[in-house]
Amino acid sequence: MFRVVALALAAALAPAAYAQTNDKFVVASLTEGVWMKGDLHVHSRHSKDSTNHGEARIIADAERAGFDFLLISDHDNHVNGDTAHHTWSDPEFRSDKLLLLYGAEWTTVRGHAVILSARPYDEKKLFDIRDARDVVVQKVKDGLGVHLSANHPTNKDHFGYSYDLVDSLEVWNTVRWAPNKTNLMVWDDMLSSGRKIGARGGSDSHHGTVPGSTAPQAIEATANNVGTPTTWVFAPARTREAVIAAIGRGRASISANPYAPRVELTADVNGDGKADMLMGDNARAPAGPVRFTVKLAGKREDGAYHVRVVKNGDVFATLDVGADGSVGFADTPDAEARSYYRVEVEGPATPYPGVDNFAKVAGPMVAISNPIFFNFDPAF
Ligand SMILES: [Zn+2]
Ligand SMILES: [Zn+2]
Repeated sequence: MFRVVALALAAALAPAAYAQTNDKFVVASLTEGVWMKGDLHVHSRHSKDSTNHGEARIIADAERAGFDFLLISDHDNHVNGDTAHHTWSDPEFRSDKLLLLYGAEWTTVRGHAVILSARPYDEKKLFDIRDARDVVVQKVKDGLGVHLSANHPTNKDHFGYSYDLVDSLEVWNTVRWAPNKTNLMVWDDMLSSGRKIGARGGSDSHHGTVPGSTAPQAIEATANNVGTPTTWVFAPARTREAVIAAIGRGRASISANPYAPRVELTADVNGDGKADMLMGDNARAPAGPVRFTVKLAGKREDGAYHVRVVKNGDVFATLDVGADGSVGFADTPDAEARSYYRVEVEGPATPYPGVDNFAKVAGPMVAISNPIFFNFDPAF
């Protein structure tokens, strides 16, 4: 009898119980899943604006650096939308190690976006309506069942469609950090407006070498390759569908390259000392303070890592990462209004073997987390 009562009590107090029963807010498991890394914006020879590698070379580079997923995102306008007979019909589009996603860079006068799909789809349908009104684009996208992720929204070919169309946002485009600062401003504006948009990175590597050339591509070949930056996802399964879903819900973070530390932001909302929420998760604000933990996973370099905590678009705190690779902070989110907390980590550059000019070009940003959200409307 006593044992039955004790078990019932333990079940009622389990942190998972809070996380799973916060009425319409659903927080998935923080332990059942796998971390996977990839790049979601890479051009091959099928894009004509590049001095590119073929797909086999790109896939070999990605396999060597231990990636789990990859999107080869060639410009759809270079083949009049018919990417199905180019990028993924190429016999080189195969890997035993990588989850190769299906997609393209939707390339229009109003901006660029990568399309992510777990299976082949008809890119030409999106290409054909690239000049149509947003409501038409939305209908076609929904009909295809694909994920639309805005590329380099402010730092080149500005994204000029409604952010209501967008399933995720490329806040970190290419190895050079500095031009991405304005992408973070747009992202914070959209988050502040109640749009729960996940952030991702994309190397946008065109990585070819022109012998004897001093064109920008000449250094790009040795500084910008697969995974500069790298997007990490925490997903319940090693499948294409799970990778794309994790990007959409923001269970993801971005690192400068595949060997740089991965940042994880978690929150303990019920004060039991254990994490209940991971970045990307959204819950009703609890009555008391929330303990957040920032952790750098993987190998760290010599030198100090600094964390900038952004709350609702403003800098909330600046912290130094401790010797164990983590640092914490606490705050009580507004009981009624929306709040979000995200972190940026700056520090020493991690070398990328085989991409020798990485550190010369990269900049101070090491990693960016997605936010932890409170009181965001799940049906927005
Ligand atoms: Zn582009
Ligand atoms: Zn591109």
